[in-house]
Amino acid sequence: MPICQAKRGMRYEQNRTRHYEERYISSLLYSLRSFAMTGFLISLAALAQAEVTASYWQTSKSQHFIIYYQEAPAGFVDELINKAENYYNGIVDELGYRRMDFWSWDNRAKIYLYKNADDFHTDTQRSAWAGAVVSVRNRIMKTFVGQEHFFDSLLPHEMTHIIFREFIGVNTPLPLWIDEGVASSQEKSNLYARMQIAKDLVAKNQYIKLDKFSEISKPGEDTVAPDIFYSEAASLIVFLIRDKGRERFLDFSRSLRDGIDWKSALLKTYNFLTLEELEKEWKNYMLKNK
Ligand SMILES: [Zn+2]
Repeated sequence: MPICQAKRGMRYEQNRTRHYEERYISSLLYSLRSFAMTGFLISLAALAQAEVTASYWQTSKSQHFIIYYQEAPAGFVDELINKAENYYNGIVDELGYRRMDFWSWDNRAKIYLYKNADDFHTDTQRSAWAGAVVSVRNRIMKTFVGQEHFFDSLLPHEMTHIIFREFIGVNTPLPLWIDEGVASSQEKSNLYARMQIAKDLVAKNQYIKLDKFSEISKPGEDTVAPDIFYSEAASLIVFLIRDKGRERFLDFSRSLRDGIDWKSALLKTYNFLTLEELEKEWKNYMLKNK
């Protein structure tokens, strides 16, 4: 899996953890779309069979989650349960999926919370920068205690990846900006900054046109800076959800789930003839909103 571990070119130091995860997810989704999916799905299957190698895990359960943990600071697991439940409700509500309570009880999502980065990386065999690993198919997230922006960004971002893909289908081909835009639109601490970056890009006419934007599968220094990619992606999805409404986003999601190709689904659901038309309305939305 082509994962860039370089730490160069990060324009926003405080977002480093975010970018590293994002690059992982970028690679992950790129892999899902490519023919190399076979190998990736094998690794997912292996993950399902042997979810963790450590032997002793305590559990804490709620309506939509089972948290597996070994050591955590006092109150951390309770806070995780509370935040995860709140995010679940907020995410399914905003995406229009409210009537499909697909994570309850027997179908609960599992979060494995490692006590530190070393244990996480040893057990998951992930790169040193990875802050979380998700298996959409198995509704599993693995992560660890002590990460900056864990509760306000990483947790809702990863949960949204799983929820969105569970609805539309793991194998549904999409440009990366839709997956990452949906996940990034549900972050808390980063979203305002991303919207400001996107607005600035539009105001200065420095954004990436939607047809080109849709071809990007690996944001990075060689293509487009991650900050720009994630900001434009998040703002496009915020426009589609908040300006056009969650019912339409639900219709769009249903079309994707039913196998309609993403461009046709997007244009038909939102009544645009071309991507340029959509782009024009998004630009107007960005310029008129603070
Ligand atoms: Zn992501």
